[in-house]
Amino acid sequence: MSLDGAYDDGNIFAKIVRGEMPAVKVYEDAEILAFMDVFPQAKGHVLVISKTSKARNLLDAEPKTLGRVIGGVQKVARAVNAALKPDGIVVTQFNGAPAGQTVFHLHVHIIPRWEGVPLGRHAEGMADVEELKALAAQISAALES
Ligand code: AMP
Repeated sequence: MSLDGAYDDGNIFAKIVRGEMPAVKVYEDAEILAFMDVFPQAKGHVLVISKTSKARNLLDAEPKTLGRVIGGVQKVARAVNAALKPDGIVVTQFNGAPAGQTVFHLHVHIIPRWEGVPLGRHAEGMADVEELKALAAQISAALES
């Protein structure tokens, strides 16, 4: 999908927001949801999405939505740092299929990195759900109020 186009209510993240698809949740409030990426590029890979916006990408998004999402990214990244003690954290966001976007509902990746551990391939290799639940519990427990 190019940068231009209509939002598709049938996308997987819209289904997660509506409760039609499961997700291993880390944090949720009225505006945003953070959940574990099921094809993680690293241990503790979390996605942060807007629950209210129909933006497909950064270019579509209302500034207020971006503020909420990036505030959530900071909150969850701090918890990832406290819980998992990575050596670094990558924050990424893709716009349009040629840029690597595969789900067309605005989202931001939080990917912890450790020295000497290569980054996994994007959207490949499904994680064990029980492992994701354990990581989500660790990260949730480290969230600041
Ligand atoms: P992007 O390529 O930036 O659009 O990222 C989409 C991300 O969503 C990829 O990293 C996928 O691994 C991830 N993903 C796809 N389906 C699901 C799902 N049902 N639950 C959690 N993460 C998903």
